[in-house]
Amino acid sequence: MSIEALGINKRFGDFVALDDVSLTVPSGQLTALLGPSGGGKSTLLRIIGGLEDADSGVVRIGGVEATDLPAQRRNVGFVFQHYAAFKHLSVYRNVAFGLEVRKRPKAEIRERVHELLELVHLDQFADRLPSQLSGGQRQRMALARALAVEPKVLLLDEPFGALDAKVRKELRDWLRRLHDQVHVTTVFVTHDQDEALEVSDEIVVINHGRVEQVGTPDELYDHPANDFVMGFLGPVT
Ligand code: ADP
Ligand code: MG
Repeated sequence: MSIEALGINKRFGDFVALDDVSLTVPSGQLTALLGPSGGGKSTLLRIIGGLEDADSGVVRIGGVEATDLPAQRRNVGFVFQHYAAFKHLSVYRNVAFGLEVRKRPKAEIRERVHELLELVHLDQFADRLPSQLSGGQRQRMALARALAVEPKVLLLDEPFGALDAKVRKELRDWLRRLHDQVHVTTVFVTHDQDEALEVSDEIVVINHGRVEQVGTPDELYDHPANDFVMGFLGPVT
């Protein structure tokens, strides 16, 4: 399902966090929201997901106006940098949680959870506790949990941000392959240029609450719209 966030404005007191920002993600696409810290990425993601209200603007998910729907009714999956797993529940139960809450039949839950654990390569770890997983494995569990209830869209806020460089690189390749299998419309927030360039179909560069450029990784890299984008994408020294 497509995502449209059109003409979004958001202030915190006098501070303008988002200044007439628009973002359109076609169905099945993986879009990176890229920019430096404080640029408004998380705020925009939270507005799309219904965790925060915009001052003005419209959010549509699958063409249906969602602006006034609470997060629970938008059918979105979230993954954040610091994932709050249920510490006392197994990996299996963590992934099953959303389905159990929805009172799906036991056999259906079992099948779906095993499918998902296979998808994120954690089928060997179903009985472990989250504390017995590595950081990278935990974020994969978070993705499985977010996907369990078949969300219309997936919203990822720096999901690999707390991990070391090597694991981050592994997970970005892995997220791309996962997305090619699942095709769920995804917005992926990151401040890491390489991550955005390698993982996404399209990149929206956002800085100081404004969209600087929208384009494919190649378009941005070959034709940066302005000095900011050029500097931001340029070689990291
Ligand atoms: P990013 O995710 O790109 O780092 P954020 O969307 O988190 O940026 O924040 C954008 C700006 O809005 C930052 O300057 C931040 O301090 C400010 N901000 C975010 N949330 C709040 C809030 N609840 N109250 C006040 N200021 C906020
Ligand atoms: Mg953020």
